[in-house]
Amino acid sequence: MSTVLFVGAGPGDPELITVKGLKALRQADLVVYAGSLVNRALLAELKPGARAVDSAPLALEEIVACMAEALAAGRQVVRLHTGDPCIYGAIQEQIAALAEHGIAAQVIPGVTAAFAAAAGLGQELTLPEVSQTVIISRREGRTPVPEREKLEKIAALGATLCLYLSVGMMEEVVADLLAGGAYAPSTPVAVVSKASWADEQRIEGTLGDITEKVRQAGISRQAVILVGEVLNARHQGVGEKSKLYDRNFVHGFRT
Ligand code: SAH
Repeated sequence: MSTVLFVGAGPGDPELITVKGLKALRQADLVVYAGSLVNRALLAELKPGARAVDSAPLALEEIVACMAEALAAGRQVVRLHTGDPCIYGAIQEQIAALAEHGIAAQVIPGVTAAFAAAAGLGQELTLPEVSQTVIISRREGRTPVPEREKLEKIAALGATLCLYLSVGMMEEVVADLLAGGAYAPSTPVAVVSKASWADEQRIEGTLGDITEKVRQAGISRQAVILVGEVLNARHQGVGEKSKLYDRNFVHGFRT
């Protein structure tokens, strides 16, 4: 059975693709890539004669037809997605449509934008006693979210929050987060645009002032919003240390 390899391209820096993903890319005869976000520098890795098709202007049926045709001709096909394919990648509908053509899919993961943003900040998202939970979510826009996952409800937990696809609605995002009751106007927020790209921008503030800062920076897309008390650690110290490196804490690798 022929197989399409769904590859996570990573957040932007072409060196942040996995070794496995890069190998797949170098062996492919056809690469269908998400042109709006994938760094085109990665296409330089394609072997001579390989074809690269931007999926941005294509409908699902066209994308699938293009891949099915190449596979039928014995070609190796890679579907290149930004970040990790499993996060807002719309891969399930592609996998299902491919299955209807008798085509299998394999997914090679990638570095998702939120993790590149945290890396750029030098920020751990899970600090003992502060937050041990990371939520990846988005505010409802043209794409609806289930009622129980409305941003206001998610915000009620007060955990570390990574919001995708939402920076164009900063005012609404902030209003929802405050309405949740667990965050305050003083809760720290970082907005990272184009994480890991050469022109990455990091804006830091609080729920009280982040909207204005983001507006002044001119960021309206391709950014993640990180929210939560963990972000104070770089400025105010870490408080409770983790048990992992505690001399008195016995674990499997240190008895
Ligand atoms: N699959 C991708 C997400 C695709 S949805 C991933 O795992 O990262 C597109 C959204 O991802 C954008 O609206 C933005 O919120 C975020 N995004 C993608 N690349 C980004 C980057 N380099 N820096 C910041 N945010 C990014």
